[in-house]
Amino acid sequence: MTVRTRVAPSPTGDPHVGTAYIALFNLAFARQHGGQFILRIEDTDQARSTPESEKQIMDSLRWLGLDWDEGPDAGGEHGPYRQSERREIYDEHAQILLDKGHAFRCFCTSERLDGLRQRQAENKEAQGYDGHCLHLSQDEVESRVAAGEAHVVRMKVPAEGTCTVDDMLRGNIEIDWNQVDMQVLVKADGMPTYHLANVVDDHLMGITHVLRGEEWINSAPKHKLLYEYFGWEMPQLCHMPLLRNPDKSKLSKRKNPTSITYYRDMGFLPEALLNYLGRMGWSMPDEREKFTFAEMVENFDIKRVSLGGPIFDQEKLGWLNGSWIRENLSEEDFADRLHQWLLNKDYIMQFLPFAKERVEKMSDFVPMASFMFSGKLPLTEADFAHKKLEPTEVKKVLQFVLWRLEQQRVWTKDNIFADIKAMTKALGLKMGDLMQPIFVSVAGTPNSWSVMDSMAIIGPDMSRARLRHAIEVLGGVSKKETKRLEKEFKALEFA
Ligand code: GLU
Repeated sequence: MTVRTRVAPSPTGDPHVGTAYIALFNLAFARQHGGQFILRIEDTDQARSTPESEKQIMDSLRWLGLDWDEGPDAGGEHGPYRQSERREIYDEHAQILLDKGHAFRCFCTSERLDGLRQRQAENKEAQGYDGHCLHLSQDEVESRVAAGEAHVVRMKVPAEGTCTVDDMLRGNIEIDWNQVDMQVLVKADGMPTYHLANVVDDHLMGITHVLRGEEWINSAPKHKLLYEYFGWEMPQLCHMPLLRNPDKSKLSKRKNPTSITYYRDMGFLPEALLNYLGRMGWSMPDEREKFTFAEMVENFDIKRVSLGGPIFDQEKLGWLNGSWIRENLSEEDFADRLHQWLLNKDYIMQFLPFAKERVEKMSDFVPMASFMFSGKLPLTEADFAHKKLEPTEVKKVLQFVLWRLEQQRVWTKDNIFADIKAMTKALGLKMGDLMQPIFVSVAGTPNSWSVMDSMAIIGPDMSRARLRHAIEVLGGVSKKETKRLEKEFKALEFA
């Protein structure tokens, strides 16, 4: 048997370090067994998937050296590797399940389902579909379909008993069938859900081992059942521990930058980031902290993954990166890396027009543009002195701006501007009053060039990290305060 693994990201946002982490372990596992590693793009959520996100994911994985043998751009025998291009395959397979009586069409409206959910919550019952459409007659189903009535396809699930899922790290996991919902397999728009597409693709793409995040454990019974319904052998499952913030909560961009592009722009070396990800839950037999990907493959043993939640810690990563720079790069290499990073013409040209308007001599350029090459800026509370707003108010408006910008999915100057403008209106402030602390947070001074341009260039993660840092400099926001501010933020009326 040839080992075939895959990483299957959904292109719905920034390229996440969690995706790189899962890709790394899948790749290491495949290489250790002389097998293949596949990239599949799971873009069935049409409303949230974007080509930009797909491109960023592919660029980031490549930057890290996590290359795939088959994928949307690499081709391969089992393509297409983008789920949106495989609609017919899923239609066919949904039909097989319907024909075999393993799935049924469900015409329940969202009002009915909302009511059901509410009732279940009130009665403290298990949440899930109640089987309302399970026993509709064939004739009724056919006539309602012919009449064009909106419906989904759901899978049947045993009413009782337990499902046992075998996990490479956890052994047998038992989940009662009554905890498992009659999962929607095909949505009303005709698109498959993750569950159907994922199982069909893993089978058709010859995937032998599925290493994925532990958040998918609860889906495993549904998947196991689908494999049985189709009469296919199930790949071996391995649920990896989730990456965590230092406070042990699930790694989230609200607390920690999670985008690979942030780490690239911050100036981490890809080999150091990869090394650090390799230490998330895994260690070398001799416990050494520094190792290359090749060394990881040579010593790889999935059984050495420990299940305690690995903490993604910026300080440790910084230490490791520094040691890679010092011990593994010659000065010549280091100069090349700086050039590849941001000390190059392509990058400088993006803001050179603004600098040109402001310099007298070339020696003015570096001090003026230093924030375009920095991480966290060395700010103090005094830097945020404001004509009208108290420091706590400044902190509050920065927090609101941050929350607003966290929701922004298309990071352009115009959209950033629209967000800040909407915020100004909602808060009843003048544009200048709100802009001042944003300038200080992002550029370190109120006297820089257009901060919206700067934010567009340094990108969403670095911009948000600077705002987050500014809030910290202003004393940070406690849990209790966050709750209060969240309420206030939700109550804001955005035009
Ligand atoms: N598309 C899923 C994700 O974004 C893939 C999960 C899996 O590997 O099965 O994580």
